[in-house]
Amino acid sequence: MISIKGLYKQFGDLEVLKGINLEVKKGKVVVVIGPSGSGKTTMLRCLNVLETPTKGFISIEGQELDFSRPVAKKNIATFRRLTGMVFQNYNLFPHKTALENVMEGPVIVKNEARDTARKKAIALLEKVGLGEKQDYYPAQLSGGQQQRVGIARALAMEPEVMLFDEPTSALDPELVGEVLKVMKDLAQEGMTMIVVTHEMRFAREAADEVIFMDQGVVVERNKPEEIFNNPKEERTKKFLNMIQ
Ligand code: ATP
Repeated sequence: MISIKGLYKQFGDLEVLKGINLEVKKGKVVVVIGPSGSGKTTMLRCLNVLETPTKGFISIEGQELDFSRPVAKKNIATFRRLTGMVFQNYNLFPHKTALENVMEGPVIVKNEARDTARKKAIALLEKVGLGEKQDYYPAQLSGGQQQRVGIARALAMEPEVMLFDEPTSALDPELVGEVLKVMKDLAQEGMTMIVVTHEMRFAREAADEVIFMDQGVVVERNKPEEIFNNPKEERTKKFLNMIQ
């Protein structure tokens, strides 16, 4: 389970997260929607401590970080391993092949034997439909293929939860489906996922719950059909009217 309590994040004078509370049960898929600047990305980045929260409490599968006091770097490094992150712009190493990109984390961070890491990486690339492309460099792959390598790379670290930050927004429309398909398969296998996305179809089809964020708080959360067909809060209604 993921638990976020009273999470705040400030950049200079700008308070971006203003007391986020959220729980995600193991195996559930939560889609986060909301206007630009509402703090969706910042919340994800706080969860894997790419940003240090100003205060608040996060826990994943029983491991906790409490930012109301200084947190040791060692604890952050351990905590970070609980999450796999998929970025909008893939963030692959350009000078490494698909296979090397997927092997990198287990070999460097987890000290896994190269041979073991290689076997696992090949299996993961096959899982995301890229068994044939393992020796290609990112520049030789389409955006959709690069993003699928990005997903395989995150999975290679065997995280407890997967965090997706607008994973399809840099893609040409015809490539979005292949990435969403991989994400749906993962969801069906029981992976716990938080997905920031503008893909409302994905939210309708794959989310157990949709969270609407605005101005640094969670305004409304509900099952997708409820949020989309029967939003309770004015701000949610306004946002959905704008995008649908
Ligand atoms: P979008 O849908 O456009 O990606 P978002 O809801 O994900 O928006 P965030 O990216 O979390 O929003 O940004 C929230 C606010 O925090 C924005 O005003 C942004 O400019 C600001 N912000 C984010 N990162 C930083 C940073 N490193 N330094 C200063 N301000 C930042």
